[in-house]
Amino acid sequence: EEFIQRMPKVELHAHLNGSLTTAALLELGAQKYGSTNEELEKLVESFKVMGESLDECFKKFKIAHDLTNTREGLAHATLCVIRDFAKDNVVYVELRTTPKQNENMSKTEYLECVLESIRSARKEFPYIIVKLLPSIDRSQGIDSAKSTMDAILKLHKKFSDIIKGIDLSGNPNVENFSNYKLIFETFRNMNLPLSLHCGEVENEEEIREMIDFGMARCGHGTFIKESNLQKLIEKRIPVECCLSSNVKCGTVSTYDDHHFKYFLDNSHPVVICTDDFGVFDTTLSKEFIIAQKTFGLSKEQLFTLSKNAVLSSFASEEEKQSLMQMIENYFMK
Ligand code: 5GP
Repeated sequence: EEFIQRMPKVELHAHLNGSLTTAALLELGAQKYGSTNEELEKLVESFKVMGESLDECFKKFKIAHDLTNTREGLAHATLCVIRDFAKDNVVYVELRTTPKQNENMSKTEYLECVLESIRSARKEFPYIIVKLLPSIDRSQGIDSAKSTMDAILKLHKKFSDIIKGIDLSGNPNVENFSNYKLIFETFRNMNLPLSLHCGEVENEEEIREMIDFGMARCGHGTFIKESNLQKLIEKRIPVECCLSSNVKCGTVSTYDDHHFKYFLDNSHPVVICTDDFGVFDTTLSKEFIIAQKTFGLSKEQLFTLSKNAVLSSFASEEEKQSLMQMIENYFMK
């Protein structure tokens, strides 16, 4: 366990508002409402999810969203998430977030606030590289996706060192990927790689469409089967596996049944990720420990998983090389 804790880790699938711990939410609450009160503590406790459905999980984000709807809250939340990843010896993280419009901020301002917070966190946390994958939330419809795209288009040049790709997330039971294809084509033409939440629920047709459309990485990939699975494997599309998230949301019944094992056994690039470490009360180290206990991972497999993560990341070649070096040094000593 200590070996995993100290291991330099790479996180590729983490939603900003889902990565706020109880402590971070209370900090944000105190900042916003003056002092923490019982009501807030109760709300924060209810934020933790245990054995509920995917739809229930989505309701849980609301409390975080209420605390990050000001610039001050959002900037502090970004800092909390980076701090908590750094504390867990994560050396590279790709955060994701859907820009939100409210009475305090436009979508562009939301995105800029997160990007600037990431940039300014470099001084305080010099040992972690932080990138951002702005997210399109599929449940909000096409018009909202277009205005999210506009915000990304406005900022991606100024923050080209941080914006490294685009995510499609949001409730998979709402709307269909086909409606968003044009938008994702625009991003692809800008050389922004795509990480799509794919196969979180059973939907053979949509999974096929996503794989045919093409993605740099696949989020979850829980229900990818038969010919779709063959295609995913042929194309060597890395899969981001979030063990606790899937078991706690009930899309996978037990850790033993997790599809992570299939990809591991078939030497397919698979990456261990947290998804929402606040909501699911976990850390990247804990996820590795769960995987190690459940599947009896050897040190060599831990090494392979670490290398998979670097190779599947959207970091620059130079960054990949230095991350690889760091990981090799750790495993070889
Ligand atoms: P945010 O984008 O607000 O920073 O992070 C929270 C959001 O990420 C949620 O509202 C949801 O849209 C998305 N999200 C978090 N976890 C999951 C997940 O497991 N599956 C999907 N499809 N979306 C998620």
